[in-house]
Amino acid sequence: MEVKTYLITGGAGFIGSHLADALLTAGHRVLVLDDLSTGSRRNLAHLDQHANFECVIDSVLNRARLAELIGRADAVFHLAAAVGVRLIVESPVRTIETNVKGTEIVLELASTAGTPVLITSSSEVYGKGARVPFREDDDLVLGNTKTGRWSYACSKALDEFLALAYVREKHLPAIVVRLFNTAGPRQTGQYGMVLPTFVRQALAGRPITVYGDGTQRRCFGYVGDVVGALLQLIDCREAIGGVFNIGSDEEVTIGELASRVKALTGSASEIVRIPYEQAWDEQFEDMQRRIPDLTRIRDLIGFRPVTRLTEIITRVIEHEQRLG
Ligand code: UDP
Repeated sequence: MEVKTYLITGGAGFIGSHLADALLTAGHRVLVLDDLSTGSRRNLAHLDQHANFECVIDSVLNRARLAELIGRADAVFHLAAAVGVRLIVESPVRTIETNVKGTEIVLELASTAGTPVLITSSSEVYGKGARVPFREDDDLVLGNTKTGRWSYACSKALDEFLALAYVREKHLPAIVVRLFNTAGPRQTGQYGMVLPTFVRQALAGRPITVYGDGTQRRCFGYVGDVVGALLQLIDCREAIGGVFNIGSDEEVTIGELASRVKALTGSASEIVRIPYEQAWDEQFEDMQRRIPDLTRIRDLIGFRPVTRLTEIITRVIEHEQRLG
């Protein structure tokens, strides 16, 4: 196997740190760039002594630093972004700037260096599209510009446009992935993510907070499955210029998720319904259903999500119990 050097922007985050683990396990070298805005040094602490690992704490908006790191890399996984509905709604300027400017700089520098790059977009770009499952060629259905949430969808859509423009115009080998709800150990509930939030509430015996009526549905992909797909895609020539959904297509209602977390933790927590107006300050729009159509990535690399929801919940519980 050829040993390569990969740069992971946002590598101290939940998904980035698992990606670093997988690349190092496969024998590669890993450079991480992270400003620790939402990522955590703790996610990488176990790698500090690893000979093939290096972590730089800085922003992707630091062009000189990024240029130096891209110059040392054989390929880039661009994961650095504002993430989490709570953060997006509360800090829209930061969301738009990080997501748009950051990706702009990554693409520009990767293009100058001729370095392949994988851009992580999000299922948020499908917006409130009602026809499920979502296919990559579907229209994007976004709401008005006063609702903070759509700025995130729009910023990610712009990242996609720019990446695909670089492929066409500058022949940059770029790949776009749309990550659906991803879950697993190390994900923090701090920015709104539902599964770690429910697990922490259940373990602490606090009420489990289901927003709305709990009939909204999601599919949770296991971070290990998602990372496996990212590794395969970056090595796949046919993936260049493509957009790929990644996630799981096993659906669950949020109400049912709360019940399962309660049962699997053996918690005495009460499950409470919180109206959206109470959970969010501003006018808030939630998505009712979000299922990925995984045909494209399955046809290209044979991807199938293998980790079932119960297993994912169990691993998150074990992780949170270890943290104490
Ligand atoms: N949610 C909830 N309680 C919480 C946090 C989230 O009921 O404490 C709901 C949220 O309204 C949404 C779903 O769980 O319907 C998934 O939320 P998350 O922020 O994890 O991801 P999203 O799919 O909204 O990006």
